Amino acid sequence: MSLPKAELHLHIEGTLEPELAFALAARNGVTLPYADTEELREAYRFDDLQSFLNLYYELMAVLRTEADFADLADAYLARAAAQGVRHAEIFFDPQAHIVRGVPMGTVVEGLWRALGRSEETHGVSTRLIMCFLRDESAESAMETLEAAKPHLDRITGIGLDSAEVGHPPVKFRAVYEAAAALGLRRVAHAGEEGPPAYITEALDILGVERVDHGLRCMEDPELVERLVRERVPLTLCPLSNVRLRAVDVLTEHPLPAMMDAGLLCTVNSDDPAYFGGYAGDNFDAVREALGLDQERLRELARNSFEASFLDDDEDRRTRYLAEVEAYEFD
Ligand SMILES: [Zn+2]
Repeated sequence: MSLPKAELHLHIEGTLEPELAFALAARNGVTLPYADTEELREAYRFDDLQSFLNLYYELMAVLRTEADFADLADAYLARAAAQGVRHAEIFFDPQAHIVRGVPMGTVVEGLWRALGRSEETHGVSTRLIMCFLRDESAESAMETLEAAKPHLDRITGIGLDSAEVGHPPVKFRAVYEAAAALGLRRVAHAGEEGPPAYITEALDILGVERVDHGLRCMEDPELVERLVRERVPLTLCPLSNVRLRAVDVLTEHPLPAMMDAGLLCTVNSDDPAYFGGYAGDNFDAVREALGLDQERLRELARNSFEASFLDDDEDRRTRYLAEVEAYEFD
């Protein structure tokens, strides 16, 4: 669906399509343990978080140079633009690259080659959000923030991703405080697999402005009330939730109930190459499976711009919101 929207929950490494993976592997002399793109696409049919993460980290081996990161981001931006994305706030996982000997500068400057000219090439404005891997140590997160300091003119904020359970937000209190002192915006994954208490912790201890996923808030009515009262945006990823079994089937997704409760919901693609679709595909899927009407879809699009970090460019936000109102559904 080409309804104008912002994408706020998107891991750039999760946009690596099998074709590009093979092209980059050939360019860098990396041998992938798959015969061809067909066999690799088969491997994309995992059914839990750990098997997804294993494949996700395995394929990162093909990303080595600035040009690789630029090509990855360009491919995403082209697909996103074709599905109505007007603004993208893009996550990246530097620790997964630094551990393979690819320096922070290569990752950030490579991504920036695409992001910095994205308005001209794709008509999409962008922000970059650096995520820490929560299954790595708090010390490693702090070292990563330190390594990012020469590149902070490219980076708008920080986030927290990867395996959630057993790695509560409080573990990253110090690095979030340090990032806040540097003027970075703060978000975190919470309440996807982890309990509602992780959402409360992310708000109170990490000072996050948006919660990524946040699905499990629905188990705690008081938390829902707070999220509504404080207008905390949630970046939901419906197709991802089905693939990773956070919900069994899309028709049972709590999105309509969450909107009814007054939560500020947005719809995003998470790791679209792996989870069956980009931002517009997620909109199409919830429209179909959950019977969302045009007013509901428009509300989701409006929310995405309201929840975006466009506070330094309110004119642009106003223009995008006007595009949402003017959009005519087919
Ligand atoms: Zn995510």
